[in-house]
Amino acid sequence: MAGQPRRNHETDRQLALPVGLVVVLAALVLAVAVQSVVRDEISAHDGQTAAILTFLVILGMTTAIRIRIRSTTQAIQWCDVAIIIGLAVAPPATVVVCTAVGVTTAYLIRRRAFIKSAFNVAKETVLAGAAWLLLHTLGWNAQSARTLREVLLPLLVAYCLLVVLDELVMLPVIALDTGTPLLDLLRANLGLRLVSAAARLLLIIVTLLIFRLDPRLLLVIPPLVLSLHLAYAGRLRSREERQAWQRLARTTDALNVVDPDLVLRTAVAQSAELFSADEVEVELFGAGRLIRGDTESITYDGPISGAPETADVVIPAALTRHDDHEAVGEVRLRFHGPVKLSEREHYTLRTFASALCTAIRNADAYAELDRVAQEQAHAATHDALTGLPNRRHLMDSGNEVLRRQHADGVVALLLIDLNHFKEINDTLGHAAGDRVLIQVADRLSSAVRDEDLVARLGGDEFAVLFRGLPAPAVAAHRAETLFTALHKPFDLDGMRISVEASGGIASAPNMGGMAELLRRADVAMYQAKRTGRRMTTYLPAQDTADLGRLVLGGDLPRAVADDEFTVTFQPIVELSTGEVMAAEALARWQHPVHGTMDPLRFIDAVERSGLLPAFTEAVLDQSLMAARSWREAGFDLPVAVNVSPRSLLDARFPGAVLARLRTHDLPPDGLILELTETLALSQLEVVDQVLNQLRDEGVRLALDDFGTGYSSLSMLSRIPVHELKIDREFVMAMENSAEAAAVIRSTVDLGRSLGLVVVAEGVESEPQRQALWELGCAAGQGHLFARPMAAGRLLGALQQGAEGRPGTLAPPLHEAGSVIRLSPSRRGGPRRQDRLPHLPA
Ligand code: C2E
Ligand code: CA
Ligand code: CA
Repeated sequence: MAGQPRRNHETDRQLALPVGLVVVLAALVLAVAVQSVVRDEISAHDGQTAAILTFLVILGMTTAIRIRIRSTTQAIQWCDVAIIIGLAVAPPATVVVCTAVGVTTAYLIRRRAFIKSAFNVAKETVLAGAAWLLLHTLGWNAQSARTLREVLLPLLVAYCLLVVLDELVMLPVIALDTGTPLLDLLRANLGLRLVSAAARLLLIIVTLLIFRLDPRLLLVIPPLVLSLHLAYAGRLRSREERQAWQRLARTTDALNVVDPDLVLRTAVAQSAELFSADEVEVELFGAGRLIRGDTESITYDGPISGAPETADVVIPAALTRHDDHEAVGEVRLRFHGPVKLSEREHYTLRTFASALCTAIRNADAYAELDRVAQEQAHAATHDALTGLPNRRHLMDSGNEVLRRQHADGVVALLLIDLNHFKEINDTLGHAAGDRVLIQVADRLSSAVRDEDLVARLGGDEFAVLFRGLPAPAVAAHRAETLFTALHKPFDLDGMRISVEASGGIASAPNMGGMAELLRRADVAMYQAKRTGRRMTTYLPAQDTADLGRLVLGGDLPRAVADDEFTVTFQPIVELSTGEVMAAEALARWQHPVHGTMDPLRFIDAVERSGLLPAFTEAVLDQSLMAARSWREAGFDLPVAVNVSPRSLLDARFPGAVLARLRTHDLPPDGLILELTETLALSQLEVVDQVLNQLRDEGVRLALDDFGTGYSSLSMLSRIPVHELKIDREFVMAMENSAEAAAVIRSTVDLGRSLGLVVVAEGVESEPQRQALWELGCAAGQGHLFARPMAAGRLLGALQQGAEGRPGTLAPPLHEAGSVIRLSPSRRGGPRRQDRLPHLPA
């Protein structure tokens, strides 16, 4: 029933029945009584007694102790005392009539609502009638009773009947009227009711004793009753007062919470209980909000205009504090029937309203404080311009991620630095620069995956933390997507501005946490900027923090002079047949102190030393010499030589290459030049000239490390190469990562549609070979077939062949026991160069 207005038609209908019943019963009783009184003629003495009796009834009714329950009042009266005493001295019919008249008079004096008055008059009349009936049944008669026992006992039984009947009639009616459970009502004030009933019992006994002594002494009864009542009511009031204050204190204590919503909900429930109101509502003027409910639940919470009207009586109190006059709102007690609060209750309500006002303000202040604190925490970890997390946030959450990285997959960091951003600031102003930064932030944020974190490190520097990568190599691929998003022109007031960026990628180190990861990504980015690449992945060998590498620089002139550079060769194999189709030349430095060194440890130093042409020449010489020797032995294999981007900046490079080819008596297509994807490659005219000249002469070009660097597609449109080499990181990741496999598949598709040979690097196992072949990749290179080795050893291996087939290094791929034969269109890389596909013009 909670939550609905209690007084509705249903309740009224339910009430009508018992009330009507009591009234009809009372009318019957009264009719019988009046008839009896009229029949037995009344003496003057009887008339006197009746008058006194009526007076006693009125007195008993008015000196009641009243307890309000919601909008209904339960009264503990002395009326039953008057009835019992009346029965002892007058004929029962007279008592009934006097009761009816007395109660009616009392209600007329107090001017109560008609229904309630009628019900109470009827109830008391019926009670008197019941006592009469009881005594009649017991055969009791006031005149015939002699001994004290004969007088007292039946009367006391009648009294008990009155008390019990009274409760039996009243409680269900109040329960119905107020919607309070019957048991709760029975328990409420039980002590008070019992004590009062006992006091009345005592009064009856004393009165009857006195009456037997001397009826005149009865005159002392009314003052006695009155003073007893006053004393008792006084005690009761102070007890009630004490309890009321305790309840108020508990209620205001409960308001002491920091959540503004909870303050309101608590206030409603607790005050409904405290004031025994049908409903309580709190209106907040500022927010235009109204929240209403009863002891059990909230029935409305919303704008003031939307609240349904359900109460007959509303008692408001302004939500102000003692020290100021501006109300923040109003609390209102709502009743479904007429009600009058006592002075004390009004005062309690004002005090409660004041406490509620304080609680609301405190909670609001706390919420504000909380909001400011959160704002500050956000400001400390975010960049004000773009709203992105800042360096501190990146470091903190990065370290958190690194701690869990083994469970979540690989973590990598991409650093992005905008190129020539200063020029935008200088020519278009800082406001324009800011707008570009905001757009960059937006593009990065919408291009990354949910699990990635984009941060602005300051200035034109951004970072993206990739998490949950299936393999480190995938980071480069994802970074590529971001760069593509960044390179679309930006719109500034209708002006289209292109922004270029450099990037450095590092995957998470085992030690050193975020600081080390950031440092590595920074090294990679520096490397990218220096070499003109768009993006570089961190390699320990290029790390300038590696001191040993710097020392090498001084050794270089001697190395060139003493021919310390040698070349090893790694075969490139047709995946399906195992036939060797080419060999890649990989430089080695036979260092007198450090031993054999891989190129990644020294290429950088060579490039910077000014000895690059001499080094390149040495490698080229040895490579062509090797190719010549294989050709003479009957293995017509082209040799693939890695070329530094810097060599391509030298317009004399093609001439030097062609001269070497002539020296070793090799056709130009006996040489493949492996190029790494670089920014310089796509942009500088001299590079175009160098590459075109080489190509026109018949030298083959291969794009190395495909998929990891500069936007590969746009490069392909500028530099017509013959071959693509898929970076070995993708091959490594392929088995566990659908993303890596997809990169391989799209590279293969691209190669096929452009008629290019696609070579997979780093093939280390048969399953990889099989998977690559299934993805459509025709050729591969890697430890599965052979490690890099000296030219002579490679010749020996070729002559021996796999399973006795010279020129092969692996048995053919088997599927269900049969040799897989490639269809001609699928055979991207035939053994002999004259079968290499021709490029579209
Ligand atoms: P690259 O061109 O990608 O060469 C392939 C690298 O992968 C070689 O490392 C090779 O030894 C290694 N490799 C081959 N098969 C496998 C395999 O199955 N598993 C693994 N884990 N690795 C394999 P290397 O010889 O250390 O060369 C490193 C890089 O140095 C080359 O990468 C190339 O970019 C550069 N480089 C090598 N020689 C020269 C040179 O003469 N001139 C220039 N400019 N760069 C060179
Ligand atoms: Ca290579
Ligand atoms: Ca490579």
